[in-house]
Amino acid sequence: MDINLLGEKELSELKELIDTSEHIVICCHKSPDGDAVGSSLGWAEYLQSMGKEPAAIVPDAYPDFLQWLPGAERMVRYDKHREKADELLSEADLIFCLDFNTTSRVAAMQESLEASPAKKVMIDHHLSPDINAAMCISEPKLSSTSEIVFRLVWQLGAFEQMSKNFAICLYCGMMTDTGAFTYSSSYCEIYYIISQLLTKKFDKDLIYRRVYNNYSESCIRMRGYMMYEKLRVFPKEYASYFTITREEMQRFHFIKGDAEGLVNQLLRIKKMRLSMSLREDTEKDNLVWVSIRSIGPWHCNKIAELFFNGGGHPNAAGGHLHCSIEEAEEIAQKAIQYFANTNSQSAKVEE
Ligand code: 5GP
Ligand code: MN
Repeated sequence: MDINLLGEKELSELKELIDTSEHIVICCHKSPDGDAVGSSLGWAEYLQSMGKEPAAIVPDAYPDFLQWLPGAERMVRYDKHREKADELLSEADLIFCLDFNTTSRVAAMQESLEASPAKKVMIDHHLSPDINAAMCISEPKLSSTSEIVFRLVWQLGAFEQMSKNFAICLYCGMMTDTGAFTYSSSYCEIYYIISQLLTKKFDKDLIYRRVYNNYSESCIRMRGYMMYEKLRVFPKEYASYFTITREEMQRFHFIKGDAEGLVNQLLRIKKMRLSMSLREDTEKDNLVWVSIRSIGPWHCNKIAELFFNGGGHPNAAGGHLHCSIEEAEEIAQKAIQYFANTNSQSAKVEE
């Protein structure tokens, strides 16, 4: 099976960039998810196998359900160790930008990333890449950045020497970006890749449990409360949303990751085609984080761009608003009307 991504010229360019660089930094987007962390750690292992000592920087905290990822503790948190991270960025000669397509996705780190004289290589699967990079490896058709990292390492001929931990990190990234292989994964190559990863003999079911069955009691109560009390359904529009306020987060001892995937739950309602979550920032007033999901041909990244200062994938997008949660709800309702008006065809959905 041909899973190579790069042409001859690009491949040797990538090798050359790695060979000739001393100070390599890997970074990923803010609020890093399984794919951001998994692909960063996987790529770091590859670079280490090439005799490099890459540093990995994350803009802020990753969720509790990823803490166990082998090597996660080596990632430098920009929000906690800004000085050190800024030094790493300014002294780097090569920076790999993983799992994001525009520098605004690294939030507070944006300025230092842009100011760094290092050559940049983007490795990502989001649409419309917009990073000023020496090399842009953009594969929006693929499940995850972790899958791209696998394919690169495979093409570079290094897979055999990679460890079990490498396989764990990449599997975790692929799994989390596909809802445990329930979307964005209907092509045979992805199962070929999984079968290759499994030759490293890790327990994939354990990875599933660590990621998805890792709730605290208060978290599962919060999720139940959200669905019972806070869910708003618009049946005629095939759309729904819920809100989470800071007060509710305090009540349920909310920690990063507790609301993860809740927005996807709404799509389990029969015929539901669009779902959104609106979450107040844990600290700042008048800042609301928005997650959006859709099913089928209707692209929710359009809503993210038009209504929520964001973007993302066709079926999973996000953004933010500078307003109160009540105002955010009004905007969400407008977005639902826009969705209903432009969705007359795809709402008459198959199943
Ligand atoms: P989540 O709802 O999990 O935070 O985000 C879903 C997807 O939308 C992610 O894959 C992420 O790449 C994308 N996304 C979330 N927020 C933004 C944003 O503000 N801008 C862009 N361009 N993409 C976003
Ligand atoms: Mn990703």
